[in-house]
Amino acid sequence: MAGMSAPDEIVPDGKDWTVVLQEGCAECGFAPDDPAVAATGTGDWLRTTIPRWEAVLARPSVELRDRPDRWSDLEYSCHARDVCRVFLSRLELMLTSDDARFDDWDQDAAAVAGRYAEQDPAIVAREYDEAARALADRFDTVQGDDWQRPGLRSNGARFAVETFALYLHHDIEHHLVDVAG
Ligand SMILES: [Zn+2]
Repeated sequence: MAGMSAPDEIVPDGKDWTVVLQEGCAECGFAPDDPAVAATGTGDWLRTTIPRWEAVLARPSVELRDRPDRWSDLEYSCHARDVCRVFLSRLELMLTSDDARFDDWDQDAAAVAGRYAEQDPAIVAREYDEAARALADRFDTVQGDDWQRPGLRSNGARFAVETFALYLHHDIEHHLVDVAG
């Protein structure tokens, strides 16, 4: 039928996830005012996600989709790796430019263009390790007023480095819930 996706297609995620920064997330239990998600701890927390994704990627079933319209563990892992890469370039921009602007990243297009389903899980584990460590190291350099440096996303969402860190924290943890990691 015209206008409907085929059942074997991923339905694009059109939700504005910035709402979790005010309201938290009922799906994964994220609470923005939880001291455990403090922005200043972003580097240390992000490093703890490396063995968790590594364990997900070691599963024999990593390439299987439970449902045709839902990513496999491998596809979620590739997404998490690319989140770290995209966030590093945006964090760099926010820390070095007074007028940081970036486009709304199309994660579903990235999954297709990046051939997530065809990646080697062992290589993705290494790439996640590298991407997460690089981003964690950069967050470790953020101090004082830098946490309030702004970034503007093309759809109108306004971030500071601090809320950007919390957004990252939710995104990665939410996907670990998605894969029961
Ligand atoms: Zn969530």
